[in-house]
Amino acid sequence: MRPRIAVIGGGPAGLVLARVLHRHGHPVTVLERDSARDARPPGGTLDLHEGLGQLALQKAGVLAEFHTLSRPEGQAMRILDVDGTVLRDWQPREGESANPEIDRGQLRDLLLEQLDVRWGRAVTEVVPGSHDGVLVRFADGRQETFDLVIGADGAWSRVRPAVSSVTPLYTGVTVVETSLDDVDTRYPDLARLVGDGSVAVYGVNRALVAQRNSGGHVKVYARFRAPLDQLPESGRADAEAERSSLLALFDGWAAPVLDLLRHGTAFAHRPLYTLPASHTWPHVRGVTLLGDAAHLMPPLGAGANIAMLDGAELAESIAAASGPEDLDKAVRAFEEQMWARAGKWAKITIAGLERLVGPDPSEAIALFDDVQPS
Ligand SMILES: Cc1cc2nc3c(=O)[nH]c(=O)nc-3n(C[C@H](O)[C@H](O)[C@H](O)COP(=O)(O)OP(=O)(O)OC[C@H]3O[C@@H](n4cnc5c(N)ncnc54)[C@H](O)[C@@H]3O)c2cc1C
Repeated sequence: MRPRIAVIGGGPAGLVLARVLHRHGHPVTVLERDSARDARPPGGTLDLHEGLGQLALQKAGVLAEFHTLSRPEGQAMRILDVDGTVLRDWQPREGESANPEIDRGQLRDLLLEQLDVRWGRAVTEVVPGSHDGVLVRFADGRQETFDLVIGADGAWSRVRPAVSSVTPLYTGVTVVETSLDDVDTRYPDLARLVGDGSVAVYGVNRALVAQRNSGGHVKVYARFRAPLDQLPESGRADAEAERSSLLALFDGWAAPVLDLLRHGTAFAHRPLYTLPASHTWPHVRGVTLLGDAAHLMPPLGAGANIAMLDGAELAESIAAASGPEDLDKAVRAFEEQMWARAGKWAKITIAGLERLVGPDPSEAIALFDDVQPS
């Protein structure tokens, strides 16, 4: 008999996992907290790396569709000094496809095809070791039992406490996100500033990054160091108060750069949290984690990529297993492999955040030079 598998969370990790299992003839149900596919804005753009996110999509059988949708020109990256001087202006070569960009919403829709997602199923608790398997409790009072529960439910995972007592820690850095629509028509100067990809400006303990999404949409990320208790509660500050406080924080920066904040609509606070780089747990039969639930790290272009590869590899391991003992062995082996990869990336991104939002802006440019293909 097929094992009863629950995938908790329909983010990049859970959807890739479900797609690869589906491809191997093991359809699973994804249990997702959001009430519907479009219950909230899907977020900005993601660059998917050749050996990580793109490999995961290949395993899911949708790499060709990704290449149709993605924006290789989005790999372009410009760095400005706070006075507006261009310090770096990197353009991808013709045919360069190491890290093309895709809107998160497009990626989600691509992966959702053919999948069975049960929306509005917020998990509250997972209890391993019940006589019939692993018990999952939902916010609506229902409960179900499974042979394997996979926590792909992100930073604030409700599955994680079943295997680990570790909780995310604040990095000291907060991002305030805003966006502009129709930039090419409404703000042509800003459209030129951002170009086809991203523009970044690094100052002392703060940075401003703007990224082009598809359809003339630009997301702007103001990053700065601030104690958690001095941040306004999410949603409390109105847009004008938020704008004024950001303009004060970035006071003295070049006018075109500040225009990204002046024209931004709706501001959202995202304090950045991480799990320890060495996060592992004693194996618990019938429960595992992947993606941000297992290894939340600073957003330096790796988290979704690694989450997707986790999903693809776990799915392949599950599909190759025969019988409950083999399945348990496969999950254990997957965990070891995931921990090794995630630990390496967590160290890189935690150190990277220190350089990108730190006291010496030249460190941010040095980091760019370290990772940029020549
Ligand atoms: C500003 C920002 C920019 C980023 N940019 C990049 C980038 O360019 N490249 C990159 O690789 N990474 C990037 N990341 C990191 C990336 O977003 C995450 O690493 C990635 O989304 C993790 O995927 P996931 O599937 O593990 O978790 P998530 O994307 O968090 O998905 C979790 C899913 O689980 C659902 N869920 C949560 N709780 C429950 C529950 N109790 N019950 C049921 N469902 C639940 C959620 O609704 C969600 O759908 C960025 C992050 C941020 C904050």
